[in-house]
Amino acid sequence: MQAKVIKLIRSVAEMRSYAQSLRRDGRTIVLVPTMGGLHAGHVALATSARNHGDHVVVSIFVNPTQFSAGEDYAEYPRNLQRDCEMLRRANGADTVFAPTASELYPGSPQAQSVWVDCEPLSRHLCGPHRPGHFRGVLTVVAKLFNCCLPHTAILGLKDAQQYFLIWKLTEDLCFGVRIVGHPTVRANDGLALSSRNAYLNADQRAQSVVVFESITAARRAIENGERSPSVLRTLMEQIITESDAACLQYAEVVSTPDLQPVETITPGSQILVAVAVCFGTVRLIDNALVQAPY
Ligand code: AMP
Repeated sequence: MQAKVIKLIRSVAEMRSYAQSLRRDGRTIVLVPTMGGLHAGHVALATSARNHGDHVVVSIFVNPTQFSAGEDYAEYPRNLQRDCEMLRRANGADTVFAPTASELYPGSPQAQSVWVDCEPLSRHLCGPHRPGHFRGVLTVVAKLFNCCLPHTAILGLKDAQQYFLIWKLTEDLCFGVRIVGHPTVRANDGLALSSRNAYLNADQRAQSVVVFESITAARRAIENGERSPSVLRTLMEQIITESDAACLQYAEVVSTPDLQPVETITPGSQILVAVAVCFGTVRLIDNALVQAPY
């Protein structure tokens, strides 16, 4: 099948009127929000979007407000042409919405005075380590929903906290968008694909397998009946500290969908085990959603 040409939209007004016309024609819109720098994980989300509606919009926008001071906003990979070509080859999008920063933040990001925030679900995991990050994410996702008018949005479970926060955003603000979580796409040795993996040197890349190994060990322990979060945290910490290149930021065990620490794991509950680990300046996250046995 010949991969078809992707429609590229750069303005908010055009995106909204195009989405309105699709809706008038009875088409269902699926949105895959991304920041570009696409890899096979993003492409898997986009191709799976085909199963959830009949017009796939992939948004590509490096959102300034979700980067904290000292993070890699300026260096974040930007290559719209390459991203569009990847999507075209995979037949992964009908439309790419790639607004400029001044389209989504008229004036400047500093001029933004209405924000979307969710303190309870941001309190743990990445929240304390990335001040303002989830406020930036939720605010830009609200904007993207208002521009693209999706019926469904596909989010990667690699960013599980973000997935639960966006699900809560749609619930609490009545967006009426169905949120679908896509499983994490991994390299052969288990490392979750991320545009930041390219910044690991060969030694760090080899040692980064401890990230996946730690959450896999925690998942297996829960499935084998372990009920103590502190035992699980210690298990994950031990595995990560086997790597001398790794610097553990957190290893946590929280309930879902509220993302709160648990004292003991309730039989039958869904648990999120999650870690963040730095290798030099490269910060990697990973997680597993686990069904505790009865
Ligand atoms: P990003 O551009 O990195 O913000 O990611 C855009 C979307 O792709 C988010 O929903 C991420 O969770 C998702 N994503 C990124 N990496 C992966 C991966 N390895 N597997 C599945 N989804 C991913």
